[in-house]
Amino acid sequence: MTDDIVVRGASEHNLKDIDVSIPREEFTVVTGLSGSGKSSLAFETVYAEGQRRYIESLSAYARNFLGQMDKPQVENVEGLSPAISIDQKNAANNPRSTVGTVTELHDYLRLLYARVGTPHCPECGREVGEQSAQQMVRRLLELPDGTRAKLCAPVVRDQKGAFEDLFSELVSEGYTRIEVDGEEFDLTMETPDLDENYDHTIDVVVDRVKLTEDARSRVTDSVETALEEADGVLKVILPDPPEEAGLGGSESRSTGDLAGEGREAQSASDDTSGERSEPREDARLVVEFSEELACTHCGIDLPEIETRSFSFNSPHGACPECEGIGETKEVDESLVVTDPSKPIKNVFEPWSYNRSYYRTRLDSVAEHFGVSVDTPFEELDESVQQQFLYGTDREVVFKRQTKNGTRRKEKRFEGVIPNLDRRYIETDSDSTREHIEDYMATTTCPACEGTRLKPESRAVLVAGTSITDVNCRSIGDALEHFENLDADLDARERKIAEEILKEIRARLGFMEEVGLEYLTLDREASTLSGGESQRIRLATQVGSGLVGVLYVLDEPSIGLHQRDNDKLLDTLEGLRDLGNTLVVVEHDEETMWRADNVIDMGPGPGKRGGEVVANGDVEDVMDTDRSITGDYLAGRRSIPVPDERREPDRREGSKRASGDGGAASRDADGYLTVRGARQHNLRDLDVEFPLGCFTAITGVSGSGKSTLLHEILYKGLVRRMNDTDVFPGDHDDIEGIDEVETVRLIDQSPIGRTPRSNPATYTNVFDHIRELFAETKLSKQRGYKKGRFSFNVKGGRCESCGGQGTVKIDMNFLSDVYVPCEECEGLRYNDETLEVTYKDATISDVLDMEVDEAYDFFEGHSGIRRRLELLKDVGLGYMRLGQPSTTLSGGEAQRVKLAEELGKKDSGETLYLLDEPTTGLHSADERKLIEVLHRLADDGNTVVVVEHELDLVKNADHIVDLGPEGGEKGGDLVAAGTPEAVAENEASHTGRYLRDHLPAVDLEGPRGGRTPAAGDD
Ligand SMILES: [Zn+2]
Ligand SMILES: [Zn+2]
Ligand SMILES: [Zn+2]
Repeated sequence: MTDDIVVRGASEHNLKDIDVSIPREEFTVVTGLSGSGKSSLAFETVYAEGQRRYIESLSAYARNFLGQMDKPQVENVEGLSPAISIDQKNAANNPRSTVGTVTELHDYLRLLYARVGTPHCPECGREVGEQSAQQMVRRLLELPDGTRAKLCAPVVRDQKGAFEDLFSELVSEGYTRIEVDGEEFDLTMETPDLDENYDHTIDVVVDRVKLTEDARSRVTDSVETALEEADGVLKVILPDPPEEAGLGGSESRSTGDLAGEGREAQSASDDTSGERSEPREDARLVVEFSEELACTHCGIDLPEIETRSFSFNSPHGACPECEGIGETKEVDESLVVTDPSKPIKNVFEPWSYNRSYYRTRLDSVAEHFGVSVDTPFEELDESVQQQFLYGTDREVVFKRQTKNGTRRKEKRFEGVIPNLDRRYIETDSDSTREHIEDYMATTTCPACEGTRLKPESRAVLVAGTSITDVNCRSIGDALEHFENLDADLDARERKIAEEILKEIRARLGFMEEVGLEYLTLDREASTLSGGESQRIRLATQVGSGLVGVLYVLDEPSIGLHQRDNDKLLDTLEGLRDLGNTLVVVEHDEETMWRADNVIDMGPGPGKRGGEVVANGDVEDVMDTDRSITGDYLAGRRSIPVPDERREPDRREGSKRASGDGGAASRDADGYLTVRGARQHNLRDLDVEFPLGCFTAITGVSGSGKSTLLHEILYKGLVRRMNDTDVFPGDHDDIEGIDEVETVRLIDQSPIGRTPRSNPATYTNVFDHIRELFAETKLSKQRGYKKGRFSFNVKGGRCESCGGQGTVKIDMNFLSDVYVPCEECEGLRYNDETLEVTYKDATISDVLDMEVDEAYDFFEGHSGIRRRLELLKDVGLGYMRLGQPSTTLSGGEAQRVKLAEELGKKDSGETLYLLDEPTTGLHSADERKLIEVLHRLADDGNTVVVVEHELDLVKNADHIVDLGPEGGEKGGDLVAAGTPEAVAENEASHTGRYLRDHLPAVDLEGPRGGRTPAAGDD
């Protein structure tokens, strides 16, 4: 076997028949401009070929399910190992997946709790256990030789009654001695006269015995008899217990009333048994044993503890109320009545007065209370309001007009909310259910308090902690808990738990290493960012300890603060040192510095790329003249630091200044100020965003950046600008809102969910292109209008694929696969339409053009070119016009949206909010993006960006740095000010890493000045 993975003749996508070697058991970065062919080499060639060979090696039967995989466009790949890809796709959209389950950590926790967990009663919290008759006898005989004991069968426990029949039955069975409420009777002498209105406890004394080894068989017989008589429960009464009774230690798992509690319970029943009670020594000890897992105190049987008892995805573990989801949906009063000043007939949002069903009910109930349906709801008595909402106390006369006259019916009115609840359950109609869902709010399940597990499972403790207690901790806190757990376990438990704990600690440790210590274990996996779920899978892989594997990763640095990125790189090196091969697609320069090899793809994007420009260590790349990556690494090119920072825009004659006047207005002048932000981990922050400036929100992962941007700033402003469907996160106020005309959130969500939308349709450029095709000579002859060239309507498109060019193949349990349409061979249009050409290109050819190409092609058409230029400006020159939106990365989708925004005529008073716009960008493309952001601010708009990338951060006018750490240890404002001011701040992690990027700052950063400080480009 060779030492290298040797790729020969790769020509997937834009790759130009390239040969390349990737050293095995080393760490290789594949880099280059966006669209230069990085992913085509790493994922679509090397990884895909590895996958294909793996599937080929499976049985014909398995292949049948997995389907045929196309061989990548490559002559040969030698030296391949089994390949695992770790990309950014968030695979989980199942509400049942949590951080704990996807990392398999929950499986180890379940094992730990099933093996060493001590069950407790979910009602009273007493420890419970189960044991065989043999174990009970052994425990009894462990008591000091000669200890006196009464072995009893508890036949009645806290029940009302006189129990005369029971007593005569016992006599006929041959039992004479009993204890009633702790008092002994001899049934041959007297029958107890019990007050049937009180609770009584009756124990049959099966045997009175001195516990000695000689009496073993007698004790065994008596224990078995008692267990039979009392359905598996034995009560042992020791009239004068030895000092160390040793029956109730936690290790013994003996059940029920332990020493202290037993005495208490006994003296409590003394009070009720009154005068007839004989004096008894306080010292007597009562212990109960059960064959079953049961709380003998509450009479609750508990299920056997198994690993599945702790799985909320199994009926054996799931909370029965919410079936393991942790949330329940209920009709919410505040959504049903949003404006109580409306009249009765219109106040209930889901009930339309125009429909006779509702009108009959509202009219009749209003008449019942003697009010008009035109009365404002808020003017009704509280009790009447409640009866409208939740049902009337008395019967209401319902009158309904039929063709035979008026029909009367008397019955209680069920109430608007119970009516919705009932119909939600009863209806067969999806649309009715969806309609009602609009008025439902999701609340934490009251039964399990959101922990998803049933009470019995939650009552199992390891060293006093339940599994749900562990699950709601952050990874960092959980790690600390398990590191200190040994001290709280006894020798036996420690031995059983040893290996399990090792696995748990290791897995938590890996997650901490990749910078995820702030995530809680019960966090729903579907709410994680792409970067977070990638790092979770990375940590899981490290935990699996595989060797000889080829790992292919997609931009692991995304969403990571430099400090955490340094830790992540340590993890990657560790994975390599185990004997694995790493191929990492990445733009981050620090990653290149740490890698063993760098393959630079290019030189340009798209059709101008697809070659290997440089392949060697980072120095070799720096020495390669035509490598743009090398230029940036060596500092021949760089992203400049702006000469000047913008000042907040203090607009003249603002509406606010004429309004409430005084000092308050002057404070708000020039700033958009958030007051009292408290959502999630934010600590009641006041944060200023200078208007007309470019602000970066920074901080380590989990510090609260996105919460501030999305939940407070975006939703808070949108809500105040009249969108009442939006619910912002907890905060007091946003001042300066009058200075902002519109808010635009440009996020990474897809631009469309079907392959029908693409950059050309989204930015509207396709509209103009279709117009151009309709104006050609042939179109005019044939009478083709613009619509003929649409692939979304009938007429000119291929009907076989409905204009999609692809046909979806359902792959059973795998994700759907799209294959080219056989009819049009992927061209989307019918032959007649394709006969129309503009400059020799068909409409289908145009959709296949890259933006850069199309820009040159449509020379002279300013309307089209202006839109294409915006796509070029945001670094998307390589993108094909017709590229299905479903194949765009989050970063690409975000940049398409940004381009569309730039095309709008704006007033210069727009607030643009962006979350990590540099995702997936090479330095050269990032530079373009930064220019676009500056352009927006220069036009008087306000730009606020959440970002880690330091070249972008150093370009901001103002930084808001949150932290200092993630999760519970974050949420504070660490620093605010210009990049230079933040860099001087010792407490700011961001600031320290910024130092090397700012020529005006004379301090050294953690990476020791390796990054070139300034460029002269
Ligand atoms: Zn109990
Ligand atoms: Zn529940
Ligand atoms: Zn077709």
